Amino acid sequence: MKITFLGTGTSQGIPVIGSTHPVCLSANKKDKRLRVSILVAWDDYTYVIDCGPDFRYQMLRSGCTKIDGIVFTHEHSDHIAGLDDIRPFYFNQGAIPIYAHNRVLKSLYKKFDYIFATENKYPGAPSVLVNRIKNKAFQLHNLEVIPIKGKHADLKVFGFRFGDFAYLTDMKTVEDEEIEKIKNIKVLVVNALRIQPHHSHFNLEEALNFIEKVNPEKAYLTHISHTLGFHNEVEKTLPKNVFLAYDGLQLTL
Ligand SMILES: [Zn+2]
Ligand SMILES: [Zn+2]
Repeated sequence: MKITFLGTGTSQGIPVIGSTHPVCLSANKKDKRLRVSILVAWDDYTYVIDCGPDFRYQMLRSGCTKIDGIVFTHEHSDHIAGLDDIRPFYFNQGAIPIYAHNRVLKSLYKKFDYIFATENKYPGAPSVLVNRIKNKAFQLHNLEVIPIKGKHADLKVFGFRFGDFAYLTDMKTVEDEEIEKIKNIKVLVVNALRIQPHHSHFNLEEALNFIEKVNPEKAYLTHISHTLGFHNEVEKTLPKNVFLAYDGLQLTL
């Protein structure tokens, strides 16, 4: 299985428009972060987790020419806003399967009504195949995917376990029974927004405490704000098995 980090930044991305914060002005490529998303590829299959506003550029940058589906964590704009840009995939492949919780689907129906239109559909609009998911394992071809439920302030969000790999973003609290699903996993990705506490995201300290509970071999932090600091400096402060993810990072499992 191969994981590619398409984006590792929080909702505004880094640099933030108009910002003169030193991290936004950094020349280090690792300090430039598009909105969060990953590619998960195994055998001949490629799935994207979330489809944010940078989706088009992320597909071009990663050289991705075919996707087998999109799995959504939740309906915030930084995770869904790029859905219209599946058009080139739709033109080549036909309707693109999407996987999301019922509430997330309702939000997609509202925001992208023309994609789901059943009458008088605009000829250039893309089509999707809807797969409703619950907090219950589901199959993507030959791979079992296990949702991990968490809370993003009051909003329920899903992380996902794919074999020895788990991807959790936009979490603020995760119950112990959900943590059980990923205990002692090989590779964990989890959100760590900044040093200061935030009402709906783990800050760095909360993310590190969460990692300690899960006890993975290795952990990578994502959904990062410029206020977390410079990539190279923050990474020096982390435990030996914890790293900051960066755009373009690839992991092979
Ligand atoms: Zn969110
Ligand atoms: Zn987000």
